[in-house]
This record gives sequence, structure tokens and C-alpha cells, in this order.
Amino acid sequence: MLSFSDPVQYLKGVGPARGKAFQALGVFTVEDLLRHYPRTYEDRTKVLPIAGLEVGQPACFRAMVMTTPRTSRIRQGLEITKLTVADSSARLNLTFFNQRHAAGHLVCGREYVFYGTVAGDFARQEIANPAFEEADSPPVLTRRILPVYPLTAGLTNRQVVSAVGQALTQCGPPPELLPRQVLEEYRLLPMDKACRAIHQPESGEELAMARRRLAFEEFFQFSAGLALLRAGRSQRQVEPYVPVDLTPLTNRLPFRLTGAQQRAIREIQGDLMEGHPMNRLLQGDVGSGKTVVAAAAAWYAVGNRRQVALMAPTEILAEQHFRFLTKLLTSLGVRCVLLTGSMTAGEKREARQALASGAADLAVGTHALLSDTTAFARLGLVITDEQHRFGVAQRAALGEKGDTPHLLVMSATPIPRTLALMLYGDLDVSVLDELPPGRQKIGTFLVNESYRARLNGFLRQQAQAGRQCYVVCPAVEEGESGKSAEGWAATLQTQVFPDLSVGLIHGKMKGAEKEAVMGRFARGEISILVATTVIEVGVDVPNATVMVVEDADRFGLSQLHQLRGRVGRGREKSWCILVSNSRNPETVGRLKTLCRTADGFAIAQADLEQRGPGDFLGRRQHGLPVFRTAGMAGDITVLQQAQAAATQWIESGGANQDSPLARQLGKLLAGQRETMN
Ligand code: ADP
Ligand code: MG
Repeated sequence: MLSFSDPVQYLKGVGPARGKAFQALGVFTVEDLLRHYPRTYEDRTKVLPIAGLEVGQPACFRAMVMTTPRTSRIRQGLEITKLTVADSSARLNLTFFNQRHAAGHLVCGREYVFYGTVAGDFARQEIANPAFEEADSPPVLTRRILPVYPLTAGLTNRQVVSAVGQALTQCGPPPELLPRQVLEEYRLLPMDKACRAIHQPESGEELAMARRRLAFEEFFQFSAGLALLRAGRSQRQVEPYVPVDLTPLTNRLPFRLTGAQQRAIREIQGDLMEGHPMNRLLQGDVGSGKTVVAAAAAWYAVGNRRQVALMAPTEILAEQHFRFLTKLLTSLGVRCVLLTGSMTAGEKREARQALASGAADLAVGTHALLSDTTAFARLGLVITDEQHRFGVAQRAALGEKGDTPHLLVMSATPIPRTLALMLYGDLDVSVLDELPPGRQKIGTFLVNESYRARLNGFLRQQAQAGRQCYVVCPAVEEGESGKSAEGWAATLQTQVFPDLSVGLIHGKMKGAEKEAVMGRFARGEISILVATTVIEVGVDVPNATVMVVEDADRFGLSQLHQLRGRVGRGREKSWCILVSNSRNPETVGRLKTLCRTADGFAIAQADLEQRGPGDFLGRRQHGLPVFRTAGMAGDITVLQQAQAAATQWIESGGANQDSPLARQLGKLLAGQRETMN
């Protein structure tokens, strides 16, 4: 009998080579595999007579092979294998492209079940590359709902399906975590049934029940973790801060604080003077001025002889914050250091020494800041900016450094209130609901390819007027789906704007390269910067006035809103041009929401209504925790139920009794940190 913690390659038919491929998917153990859920499903349950097949409608049919498969080579790299099959209703031609080997298994005179889609007109119908298996074999590829898994090079869906099947028979499902009472009260599938059903659903209803159960469990754990964190932290005592005069700092600002900023700063100051660790979320749309609020919080901490750690999700952002804060605070006697992954070992050591000895007051960095090798002499305040994947373990880890530091979490991801209450249940919230004065509305337009010439003309005109433009693409390299930043940057530079400076930045570049490009863009040496979403958060170049998003339909509304926030940061009129060739009315309607409104919360609400909570929970969004299954819950009620159940379970002392769930939560809160990216 295998156990859950055994390496996945111990499974029959997997082995070391395929085990490596699984590792690329983050699947190391049998348990990881059982929690590697299908991306989607193909309903292959319908079995029809050949005469009943319809063009364009995939279905199964049972038929006998009537001719021996014949392969001909059309040209280099293209082989076609043809054969004819028949049932009592009709005959049908099958064609396989470059599948000589697979098709060679078909034996004349035997019966198989095929699955495929008929193409062609009535007279010459045929099916290309159908899946098939012997008619009397158990249904694996046909006659069932087939799970479609996330894959990687060297791994086919069929191999994953079979490995999961092995895991289920050799190991059985993962242990039940939810209390029996909760299962009964909310009518949830027990784990063994749910785990089998998510991988091998027998019907759509069963699949829906499995999803509901798994989403419930994940959110239950998350909510229970938050409730424990909140309870634990609010009981701790810390020395209250003494008041510190803010005027030296505000005097150095080239602007007046907005009312919202003043309110948030007062709320933070109140927390710091209370004697319990602060747990505050600062929510404010892009450009609302969160950094200054963070600077004020840091000022209070340093004024109380405490150290501050400010963490950003990317090096670019960390460096930008570092420049801003150094400029603002150094002359006031605050000693700042930067700590990022791409610094040399010597530089890092120096920065760490300054933090450990107490010579430095403020550290700005990426999540490397909280690694075990970084020690602080007197850490009092941890600030995270747009921290993504901010799950329970990360929150616990933040509070672990030093002596229960105060915690300020900043997020520019506006989320609907209902979701905020669930995701930030452990935090108090300050909202910056007022933009600094003088911000103009960013003209937002949705265009398709037919506007390309005009769009290029517009970019040229802006560049010639001394302005700068971003062009965001969904992919990095050719071959990924959607327009690639590399390819498009080359096209723009060589074919469209040979006389202008076109730059390229994307997430696969090294930190130093990215920084160099961003530096050149910030100094105005690049007119048109082709980018991926690495520029999504925080980057501030006031002279940039145009944001073009290619294949805009591939992005979520909130993400597009974030991208739009990269422009309109200076005095000049700014634009956001969404390029999409989609004709799907729903997609077009979705994108038009963005043209109509600039209110991040309204946009988030529209996202929630149109696409359900999945977008907020399933995909990586800055400032939100990432869930594996909670996004599978079609609607938000399941999550609300899970939260209610979790709160009740905690309140009735569930976490204090020994159970697999209590142990799991304990481990989570003991700071078994995942990586923060
Ligand atoms: P975000 O909330 O997106 O992090 P930032 O802190 O980067 O916003 O601020 C955006 C820009 O607005 C910066 O250039 C900042 O200096 C400026 N800013 C912040 N507060 C004010 C204010 N009260 N008045 C005018 N400009 C401000
Ligand atoms: Mg910011």
C-alpha cells in the first residue's frame, strides 16, 4: 500500500522520468497528485449510431474497423493514416495525422468505441484524430466525462488520467478533514466520494457536488485559520507607541495630504498607540497615494525607535519605493536599506548586517526580507504592498518576525465588500476613497484590428509630443497563446516605429535587466515600452500617457483596471486603448464596463456579477490569496456557509481538540510558509 507522502513516481506506470514532469507541475507526492484537479472536463458520455452523428458535435460511436489502416506520406513531417469503420447504420472515414503508431493498433474486423467530431459535408463526412479504445475495455477515454488536467512538456492528459486512477486505487482518497457535524449540516460529500468524483465524475450533478465540497473545505480551512490568527494576535500585548509629530514629514511633501490619507494615517496612529499589534488593511485604488500613508506609519515606528520592513511583490516596485522613501526620509535622519534577490551577495550581507545591528531603521525589499537569514534588531512594523498570495501561512509568517510586529497590508485590488469581509476577516480596514486632486479621467476605448493604422498613428503622435506609451501583451514569447511581447516589440521596432525607441520588459528577464529597462523608460529614453503584466502594479512614470492592451479579452477586468492605472499619473491627458477582436457579446460587454467607469470597486463588482468569485479566488491577483478550489464554487453562498461554519467551529473550541484539521491548522500557523510568490 502506498502512502500519501510517497513520491508520485512510485505509482505503477509513472517512474522517474515522468515523475520529473509531474514535479514541473508542482506534483511531488501522491497526495499532490490527488489534489491536482482537472482544469476542465469533456463530456464524452453521449454514444450515437454513426448515422446520428452531427457535423461539429463531438460524440462517441461504436463501430467495426472495415479496412486495414493505410498510411501515406504527404510531405516531410506529414503522414496521413486512413481507414473506414462502420456500424449497422452507416460507414465513416477516419483520418489520423501523424499518428501512424496509434492508428496502427486498430485491427480490421474488431470493434472499438471512438470519440471525435464529424467534419465535412454530408456527402463526404469524416473524423480526424478520434480518440478510441476497444469496445469491451473499461471506459477510459470514451463513454465518460473525461477530466482535462493542466499539463506540461513530457506529460499527456492520458498519462495524468491513468496516474490519478492508480493513486485512487493504490492509495485511496485523502483523509477527511471536515467535522462530521459540518458535513451533515451543510450536506457535503465526504472526502472519499468528492475526491473520486472530481477526478472521475459519473455525472454533471456529481461533479457539481464534488466542487462544492472541495471549495467549502478550502474556504473553511482558510476562515478557521484567519479566526485563529485574529484571536491569537488580539490577545498579545505590545508596548504602546508614543505620539510622534508628523509635520517634518508632511513639510517635505510637494503636495497636501488628501482627506482620505489623513483619515487612514489617524487610524493607523490609533492602532499603534493601543498596546495590541495592529492588523490593518489599507485599501485604495491605483494612484490613491498609499505609499505616503506607509511612509507616515514608518515615521511613527522609527520615531518610537522601532525598525520597519516594507515588502513589495517585485524588485522593480521595491526599488521604486526605496527611491521614494529615501528621498523623503533620509534627510529626516531615517536610515534606509534595500534588500532584493538580485543584489550581490556582498551587498545583501551589508544590508542584513545593518538590520541586525540596528544601524538601519527601514528595510525595503521583496519577500526575501522575511527569509530566515534576515534578522532585525528591533522590528516593530511590517508593511506589505500589493502582497499577492497572501494566505494564512503568509499572514502568520509576517507576525512571526521580531516581537509581534504591527502589520499594515496595502492593496490596490478593489474587491466587492462581500468578498472583502471573507478574505480580510482578520483585519481592520482603512479605505482611500479619494484620489489626489487634479487627476483627470483616463479616456478608455475598445477597438479591434481595423483600427491598427490609426492606433499606430496615435502612438507616433504621442511619442513625437514627448510622451511615452505602454503596450501590454498577454504572452512573453511566440508560441504561448496570445500576442507575445517579444514578437510584438520586434515588429513595432523594425516595421512600425524604426525611428523611435521601442523597449521590452517581461517577467522572464533577470531583475537587473528589468531594472535597466525601467530606468531607461523612467528617464524618457524609451518612447514605447512593450511589456507583459510585470508592469501591472505600482510602477510610476508620470510622463506615460498611453496604455495599449493587446488581446484585452484575455485579462480580467480588475487586472485591466490596474494596468490602466499606470497612466494618468502626471498632468497630461491620458488614454487606455483596449485592443480585442472578440465578437462574443458578453466579452465585448465586459470590456465596455471599463470604458464606462473609472471606479475600481464598481469594476470589481461587475467582475463578480458577470464571472462569479472564481476570478478573484482562482487566478493570481495582487493582494488576494490564491485558492485552489474555492474558485470552483459557482457562487459565493458556499463560501459564506464555509465561513460561518468555520467561525462556529473555532468558537466552540474545535481547534483545541485533536483532529487532522486542527493539526493542519496548527502547522499552518506555526509558520510552515509557502514561498510568497
Ligand atoms: P498607490 O496608492 O497606487 O500606491 P502612490 O502612492 O504610488 O499610489 O501615489 C501615486 C502618485 O500620487 C505618486 O506620484 C504620489 O507622489 C502622488 N500623490 C500621493 N498623494 C498625493 C496627494 N495628496 N496629492 C498629490 N499627489 C499625491
Ligand atoms: Mg503603490
